[in-house]
Amino acid sequence: MIKYDVIIVGSGIGGLCCGSILALLGKKVLISEAHSQPGGVAHSFKMKGYTFESGPSLWSGIGKWPTTNPLGQILKLLEEDVELIKYKGWQVIVPEGNFNLDVGKEPFKQRIQLLRGEKSVKEWESFIAEIKPLSKLISDIPLLSFSPESINFSDIINLSSKFLSNINQLPKINKGFGHLVDNHLEDTFLRNWVNLLSFLISGMPMHETNTAAMATLFNEWFEAESYLEYPKGGSESIVKALINGLKKNGGELILSSKVKTINFKNNLSTGITLENGITFNSEFVVMNTDAWNSRKLIPNEICKRWKPKALDINKCDSFLHIHLGFDSDGLEDLPIHSIYVDNWEKGITAARNIAVFSIPSVLDKEMAPKGKHVLHGYTPANEPWEIWEKLDPKESTYKNLKEERCSIFLHALRKIIPDIDQRIDIKMLGTPLTHKKFTNTYCGSYGPALSAAEGLFPGCKTPIKNLFACGASTFPGIGIPAVSASGAYAAEKIIGKKAFKTILKKIEL
Ligand SMILES: Cc1cc2nc3c(=O)[nH]c(=O)nc-3n(C[C@H](O)[C@H](O)[C@H](O)COP(=O)(O)OP(=O)(O)OC[C@H]3O[C@@H](n4cnc5c(N)ncnc54)[C@H](O)[C@@H]3O)c2cc1C
Repeated sequence: MIKYDVIIVGSGIGGLCCGSILALLGKKVLISEAHSQPGGVAHSFKMKGYTFESGPSLWSGIGKWPTTNPLGQILKLLEEDVELIKYKGWQVIVPEGNFNLDVGKEPFKQRIQLLRGEKSVKEWESFIAEIKPLSKLISDIPLLSFSPESINFSDIINLSSKFLSNINQLPKINKGFGHLVDNHLEDTFLRNWVNLLSFLISGMPMHETNTAAMATLFNEWFEAESYLEYPKGGSESIVKALINGLKKNGGELILSSKVKTINFKNNLSTGITLENGITFNSEFVVMNTDAWNSRKLIPNEICKRWKPKALDINKCDSFLHIHLGFDSDGLEDLPIHSIYVDNWEKGITAARNIAVFSIPSVLDKEMAPKGKHVLHGYTPANEPWEIWEKLDPKESTYKNLKEERCSIFLHALRKIIPDIDQRIDIKMLGTPLTHKKFTNTYCGSYGPALSAAEGLFPGCKTPIKNLFACGASTFPGIGIPAVSASGAYAAEKIIGKKAFKTILKKIEL
């Protein structure tokens, strides 16, 4: 039987980054994926000529060099190019009005001036001025080069030279982002807006959201030259590039291959057994599964070695989804992205209060048949699992509840495309049960609800010497840039710091 150096459970972006880096360094890698499509929550699927997205739609910092985005850095390392389409505009539908908003320094200030007046513009300026040195500090310390679990003395010396001039900024990075907001923003719209962006990134309100992640985002979105990027072909193109990076260096990916258990001998992992009974052996195993599913793969007697706190993690809520194919006739100025907020007072964590839409065929016509557009909409991590968990998708109670709760989507879309109901070619609705089924996530959750105010996400090490974790349940947390970094950290642990630093030097990190 073939023995692999490393087996990775799951082909989410974290697992693919980990596997492709390890393969680049000569390791014999196998990635075993439960679903028939790779990419985890970033997978896409095709139907009737449409390419439907299932997860991430906001991409930035991948197509430029240098970049602070770990995914952009990993693609560079793998020498994989993805064609990215630049764009700037969003449509915003909030209680204050319905308007287009470009990323960049001036457009948002102009919008604040129109909506809220000069005092609020000044508040925003002082807020951005405080974030700037933080963004600079973070961009000086590439995430990929400094995994918190492997920082050594020479790293500390190296880092302190970057920190010294900004030493007063460090305590700010350790708190939730909301404390910066409290220092500068009184305007309710601005506070709500930052809270919303924080929630979209982390699944947590601004006081619980990581300041480093938000400072990076603000640097990318509110600079004079800012723009967003959409991969041509959708997230599938990013997934394909990572798989190409894996395979061209001898790595393997098997789909529809759900792992039933991770095997152990003498307190070390020895490989995996799939649900179909096939066993693969390896020297190391990396779990790209979420914290709860990872536990299910480990026998109880081994699991006892985890601290009880590490096994008791709160989860973020789940999602409602809509996928539409619709007639594009006469719709000339559609936004690629729209965000809809019904009522700020209900709060950003309230169910069915917020919806996010993307229509990638606005930028990439090949994602939909001629004369059509393709749309993915979702309510971001605020749909409770508990109201769905006992329902049977075949029964009318489920079907009726799905129609009722997903009505938020067409209600919101009518504000963008008034005759949307008459244009629909395909409509698919999804609930937390759908999300769980196609992403294999625990309770369809966005990930761990870990507050940045209380500490960092757990690292990629486990109590088992040759078993590691990567993905949205590990440091730095949820989101594409974060899971990409986590995949690189797990790879670093396996190949060793020295070899990892050597390959990073190739791309001047
Ligand atoms: C609707 C939505 C929109 C989002 N939008 C954005 C965005 O715009 N920008 C952004 O940066 N982030 C966004 N995110 C977050 C980001 O997409 C995720 O944090 C990230 O993709 C998670 O990657 P991961 O590496 O943790 O793996 P996951 O995507 O969770 O993948 C894990 C993989 O493991 C597989 N698996 C599970 N159990 C087993 C098993 N037993 N055997 C084999 N395989 C198994 C699963 O099938 C899955 O493929 C969004 C997420 C969602 C859900």
